[in-house]
Amino acid sequence: MSTPSRNDQLFARAQRHIPGGVNSPVRAFRSVGGAPRFFVEGKGPRVTDVDGKTYLDYVCSWGPLIAGHAHPEVLAAVNETAAKSLSFGAPTEMELDMADLLCDILPMLDMVRLVSSGTEATMSAIRLARGYTGRDLLVKFEGCYHGHSDSLLVKAGSGLLTFGNPDSAGVPADLAKHTLVLPYNDVTALEAAFAEHGDKIAVVIVEAVVGNMNLIAPKPEFLKAMRELTKKNGSVLIFDEVMTGFRVGPQGAQGLFGIDADLVTLGKVIGGGLPVGAFGGKREIMEKIAPLGPVYQAGTLSGNPVAVAAGLATLKLTRAPGFYETLTARTKRLTDGLVAAAKKHGVVFSAQSVGGMFGLYFAPECPATYDAVMACDKEAFNRFFHAMLDAGHYFAPSAFEAGFVSAAHTDADIDATIAAADAVFAAW
Ligand code: PMP
Repeated sequence: MSTPSRNDQLFARAQRHIPGGVNSPVRAFRSVGGAPRFFVEGKGPRVTDVDGKTYLDYVCSWGPLIAGHAHPEVLAAVNETAAKSLSFGAPTEMELDMADLLCDILPMLDMVRLVSSGTEATMSAIRLARGYTGRDLLVKFEGCYHGHSDSLLVKAGSGLLTFGNPDSAGVPADLAKHTLVLPYNDVTALEAAFAEHGDKIAVVIVEAVVGNMNLIAPKPEFLKAMRELTKKNGSVLIFDEVMTGFRVGPQGAQGLFGIDADLVTLGKVIGGGLPVGAFGGKREIMEKIAPLGPVYQAGTLSGNPVAVAAGLATLKLTRAPGFYETLTARTKRLTDGLVAAAKKHGVVFSAQSVGGMFGLYFAPECPATYDAVMACDKEAFNRFFHAMLDAGHYFAPSAFEAGFVSAAHTDADIDATIAAADAVFAAW
């Protein structure tokens, strides 16, 4: 009998004291099968596992690493800041730099508050919207994931879809009844919901480009109707840009589709790989937050100096001329190349990208609805995933997650991945 790899040894050990061996469910390879890879190092577009195998990384820590792993300028900012303090729990000038920068870049932000994760950002933004309107009802869309706070774990995407459990246990029915779930990209359902409940709807939260049921692009008329209906009915519109912020373009999805939301939530890229989230928006609403207003929200490590330093350094890199043009072109090069390779070998496959994020589908065309995503061939995805992993290309271990390209991926890296896929499809 051969000795198990170091990776397999670690995974066996992991399961003794950590549920499922992972600290976040989608890492677990449950739906694709096999053991998650334990990584020891990341450099640019590549990661290396404990057995010394190197992969081109299309997960990028689920989005934050838009500059790639271990960018020297990000590391320098982190090291310099850490040498002075890991945390004060008091204001620092860098938090002002971050707030000013975010409000400069995103025109709909008058004020912003920093938190430590995307979950905190969306949870706080929803409490704020409820406090501001004095209403309870929350509208979300099937398959969208907004973090793991109770009100949002109703028909959610990401790991909940991956494991076929879109409604989490442990959410009181008394709370879930205040969440109304509508189909994504369905204007008629949205209009009907507002016709029936308009004066009770506190808030509509949406992933303007969905990255948590694979990737689904919005129909422009869907976002437009959402903006008009929320405005007309005095409901708060939250664009959850935890994933899309600074990822699909310099002004996120709101810039891409020209929608002026009331509140926006951010995370991932704005922390550059360290824990940072943010929520912000119109002054009139943001002034309801403590200590100015009656809606409570707080955090021991909010605006943590080291995390903010990493985020600021990362955002600075995204300000370079042509940054998003190059990232967008490179991501499209990947999806176009994969589609061409599949077509050449007669494999039913489609793909699309928006800025630096992409979706891969074992389906004849890119899905626009939850039902269409559910109809994709998951077994084919799992086969593709493992064949690519063996060849040294690391994609998200689920058919329901978007993928990410960083500025460190070169055309040659992308072409290497396309060539590997070509070989996989040739043997399909
Ligand atoms: N909103 C969206 C759109 C997300 O994609 C995620 C995480 N993938 C979250 C919120 C939650 O963020 P976090 O995992 O940092 O809590």
